[in-house]
Amino acid sequence: MIHFVGAGPGAPDLITLRGANLLRQADCIIYAGSLVNPALLEMAKEGCEIHNSATMTLEEVLDVMRRMEAAGKDTVRLHTGDASLFGAIREQMDELDKMGIAYDDTPGVSSFCGAAAALNAEYTLPGVSQSVIITRMAGRTPVPEKESLALMAQHQTSMVLFLSSGLLEQVQAELLKGGYSTDTPAAIVYKATWEDEKVIRCTVGTLAQRGKEEGICKTALLLIGNFLDSAYERSRLYDPTFTTEFRQAQSAGKE
Ligand code: SAH
Repeated sequence: MIHFVGAGPGAPDLITLRGANLLRQADCIIYAGSLVNPALLEMAKEGCEIHNSATMTLEEVLDVMRRMEAAGKDTVRLHTGDASLFGAIREQMDELDKMGIAYDDTPGVSSFCGAAAALNAEYTLPGVSQSVIITRMAGRTPVPEKESLALMAQHQTSMVLFLSSGLLEQVQAELLKGGYSTDTPAAIVYKATWEDEKVIRCTVGTLAQRGKEEGICKTALLLIGNFLDSAYERSRLYDPTFTTEFRQAQSAGKE
């Protein structure tokens, strides 16, 4: 069986308990070496075969999976963050389906959650933003025209950009083209939850310059929006005058 596992954003103790158990039991681990913390590999049992997929093609990854399966062994395919975001899991699963090899998927903590935690930020602030756009700048990998950054920016909601920290000039230009003002709060979070995590608070107008000054070109997320720094409304959920499924409103007039 093949187990796809989300490794979490970096800190080794941010893998899930289920993911850690699967790692400990695996006969083979194929990990995304560019971003998965190698400290996680210390959980591997003795004799576990370990492959770094950063240097492998899809075909080579599938060859290892097929060989392990034929020998009745369990393989963990360890992806960074949560595998459902920019994880290239679908193409692996489709090929496994064709080969009749069973698999399952264990979620992980995505780096966009790690980045919010690094900033003590809440993406969905009442009265400010109730949506999060997770996207990327078009680069060597294209983005559908309808999802261009300038179009996405028109929503003026909380945004998180993956895979875009090497294109800061273009990102900044697209965000401004989409209608963000230069003083909209922004942040660059480099290696969220790793020991060498770096948090750079800036604005849409200073994004490219601040990134350049700090030497950021990879392994970073770009966060944009007023959720980073603005007034907001109290949540209804914890408002004394608001009745929920679990709590009756306290009578009005009581302060
Ligand atoms: N599936 C992953 C994303 C993989 S795409 C997830 O859920 O996080 C790789 C991109 O993710 C990187 O280019 C970078 O933009 C971002 N990324 C991954 N880990 C990161 C981290 N710890 N800190 C900041 N950005 C990270």
